[in-house]
Amino acid sequence: MFAVRQTWAANRPLLVRTFYLATTVIANLRRDFVGEVSLSDLKGLIRTIPDYPKPGIMFRDVTTLLGDAQGFKAAIAQMAEPFRTQPVDAVVGIEARGFILGGAIADRLGCGFVPIRKKGKLPWKTIGQEYTLEYGVDVIEMHEDAIRKGERILIVDDLIATGGTAEAASKLVTRSGGVIVGATFIIDLPDLGGVKLLKSHGIACHALVSFEGH
Ligand code: AMP
Repeated sequence: MFAVRQTWAANRPLLVRTFYLATTVIANLRRDFVGEVSLSDLKGLIRTIPDYPKPGIMFRDVTTLLGDAQGFKAAIAQMAEPFRTQPVDAVVGIEARGFILGGAIADRLGCGFVPIRKKGKLPWKTIGQEYTLEYGVDVIEMHEDAIRKGERILIVDDLIATGGTAEAASKLVTRSGGVIVGATFIIDLPDLGGVKLLKSHGIACHALVSFEGH
């Protein structure tokens, strides 16, 4: 017993040092994954353009965030964070800003990327899904063989407003036999109800910042 205590006492400084080294390594890894930019910093990097593309719309322009190295890295890290610990086979990105974000998130999660585009833009055979706009309808498409049955899919776009676009994307995924792990956005406009709509379909939503109004 005495010998054991002596060995413990002799090794104590080494054990304490190892413990502190390990916690520092974990903290550094976490910082590398999540970044050091706060959510309010991210919000400040988004440019608002009033009355674009038409009167009454506050256009939330993420190109200013994408152009900031730290902001872009942090946004990708934070968008991916809740899905890091679950298996994801592919990220589905919605044209066009969903491509920029979705590609980087797929790289981070170590999975594939599937583009969803406006009608007529994809080169192979497609399946299409209509969705309602304020005036009229639009169609988005995905390659018919892009997702295999049972694949676990994360939906990515820059912003969710009414949720019509993301809902149409989710229909393309489920029609292909994919299983939706969740949907992740930089911006939520909660007054427009998109997150509620996706949640009503059982889709877990993650958004980094929100803005009031349209
Ligand atoms: P929704 O289908 O209504 O959820 O609209 C989401 C899509 O429209 C996303 O692809 C956004 O990029 C775009 N969008 C809608 N409202 C805005 C806005 N206020 N600022 C920037 N993009 C918007």
